[in-house]
Amino acid sequence: MGSPESASPAVYAFCPMCAAALEWRPVGGRPRRACPACGFIHWANPGVGAAAVVQDEQGRVLLVRRAPGATQAGRWSVPAGYVDAGEEIRSAARRELEEETGLVAEIGEVLQVASNFHDPAKPTVGVWFAARVVGGRLRPGDDADAVGYFASPDLPPLAFPTDAALLTVLTAAPPGGEESGAGGESGAGPAPLSAPAGCPPSPGCAGCR
Ligand SMILES: [Zn+2]
Repeated sequence: MGSPESASPAVYAFCPMCAAALEWRPVGGRPRRACPACGFIHWANPGVGAAAVVQDEQGRVLLVRRAPGATQAGRWSVPAGYVDAGEEIRSAARRELEEETGLVAEIGEVLQVASNFHDPAKPTVGVWFAARVVGGRLRPGDDADAVGYFASPDLPPLAFPTDAALLTVLTAAPPGGEESGAGGESGAGPAPLSAPAGCPPSPGCAGCR
């Protein structure tokens, strides 16, 4: 079609509201697919992804290997997925973590927000949350076929550059040497994540090792 919007996630032919043929129309300074019959405009906004960042006592981050059929199969990523319609974003992060790793977690503070352009057909905005494990048993599931904890510089092949950016920052050795997490009640940053507070003792639980 040679459209100037070729980088957008989808170019619809027909109006999803009234089935008339869509046309290109400048709206808000950009050409958009618009319906001449009912006024529908396809804004082509990015999807929203939610990621759950679990760290072990050493500060390593839990990653999943993407199963055959998944985007970037065989490479590793932070457990994440799309927020469903009607789903609260922290619920989505919790759900995706449990589906892909078997772990149940409380979702905490935001560690990173970034636009993802690695898949031109599916631009997304991702939100990476700190996650504190409170139960479950570690095992790969859904579109993950392996799980493991990793830290920079020994990271496996990563699927997404935005994960790589976060992991490099999060798992880099602290400049002043080791940090003692004992007695830390609150505070910013990822340090409190390694404390298995409230984690019920269960073999196989990543928070109990
Ligand atoms: Zn229409």
